[in-house]
Amino acid sequence: MAAASLALRRLDYDETAMTSPAFTPVDDDLYREIILDHYRNPRRKRAVIPADRTVAANNPLCGDEIDLTLRLIDGVVADIGFEGRGCSISQASASMLCDAVSGLETASAAQLAHEFRSMMQGEPRGADLGDLEALAGVRAYPVRVKCATLAWNALLEALGEPGEAARG
Ligand code: ZN
Repeated sequence: MAAASLALRRLDYDETAMTSPAFTPVDDDLYREIILDHYRNPRRKRAVIPADRTVAANNPLCGDEIDLTLRLIDGVVADIGFEGRGCSISQASASMLCDAVSGLETASAAQLAHEFRSMMQGEPRGADLGDLEALAGVRAYPVRVKCATLAWNALLEALGEPGEAARG
């Protein structure tokens, strides 16, 4: 009986950890640290004012919310920021996105979003995505993939491309 109650307690503990906003379903220590650093110290977490594009996205499966704002000048993402709340994966991914696409031409930003989504779907991709590779480990937890792609789908929508509708 003692063993059974011990197992029950451990299950309760795991479930609590799984639903904590900071729970980060990535096994690799280095990658997890990259994600938690962006979660705790998000880059560009502010609204761009005035913004040329504003997209509000949410992931009801997890309760994640991202508001993405962009300023476009001569076909370049001149400024980008996000506001939001949610799990570590969703917020870190938004922070990494803003870092990665700031200063890119819109076509390059869209291409990066497609590459990122391919990575998260486990499809072949053209290039190593640098720090963004840290999020690839989330694939082992399929229910959390939408947390990682939420901001990227918002970016594609902001750039005038179908985001969620095209491939989910
Ligand atoms: Zn989430």
